[in-house]
Amino acid sequence: MRLILLGPPGAGKGTQAKRLEEAYGIAQISTGDMLRAEVKSGSDLGREAKAIMERGDLVPDAIVTAMLAKRVQQPDCVKGFILDGFPRTVPQAESLDVMLRDQAMALDHVIELQVDDAALVDRIAGRFTCAKCGAGYHDSFKPTAKVGVCDVCGSTEFIRRADDKAETVSARLEAYHRQTAPLLPFYKAQGKLRAVDGMAEMDEVTRQIRAILGTG
Ligand code: ADP
Ligand code: ADP
Ligand code: ZN
Repeated sequence: MRLILLGPPGAGKGTQAKRLEEAYGIAQISTGDMLRAEVKSGSDLGREAKAIMERGDLVPDAIVTAMLAKRVQQPDCVKGFILDGFPRTVPQAESLDVMLRDQAMALDHVIELQVDDAALVDRIAGRFTCAKCGAGYHDSFKPTAKVGVCDVCGSTEFIRRADDKAETVSARLEAYHRQTAPLLPFYKAQGKLRAVDGMAEMDEVTRQIRAILGTG
């Protein structure tokens, strides 16, 4: 099964992708996570991406598309994958179509997480993840069971993203509306687009997505 989760920053793509990865045994591919790993490693690509990401702009299509093309050839993608944060522009979506066609693969679904802009600011401002295992949390909507301790691995170290501050969020939302939202009609025209209510509680969102995907 190959799917795309589409939605603005903070819509819940990463949260749902992790759940689907477990439920269906397919790989979560987050271009944001991959870019943050490049920034952390200090690679040439990371150095180029860092300032762009901190401004809340999109990294150039050529860079992200090349990164993605390599990633989908890894062995863990054989059963399928969930794209979380890619494509983000129409040219990226066109490259993905070519890439998949060349490998005789097809996309099964594109799932849009619909969320009001007003809710996104709160979601992003409260977001944090475990530094050790990557589990995602939220100060109000999904706190750890025990304050300061990861529910999954027991680690006491957490990360907040540099671009999750209020000043950057508005730039990221604008990039979404201007550059990524045109993907909605793009995939609608392909007959692949399905929408779920991203304002619902996390478990309900998962239920709605699984109802679309079936037993996979
Ligand atoms: P969010 O989960 O909040 O939507 P991501 O982790 O997906 O954010 O992305 C963080 C940043 O990484 C983006 O603001 C952008 O700068 C860069 N990025 C991630 N994926 C892409 C992509 N497909 N194309 C261009 N830039 C990207
Ligand atoms: P994205 O990957 O689309 O940027 P995330 O999955 O990281 O979004 O979610 C953003 C923040 O909102 C996280 O802190 C997450 O715990 C929280 N969150 C995700 N889904 C929901 C939901 N349905 N209701 C409330 N909070 C949510
Ligand atoms: Zn953890």
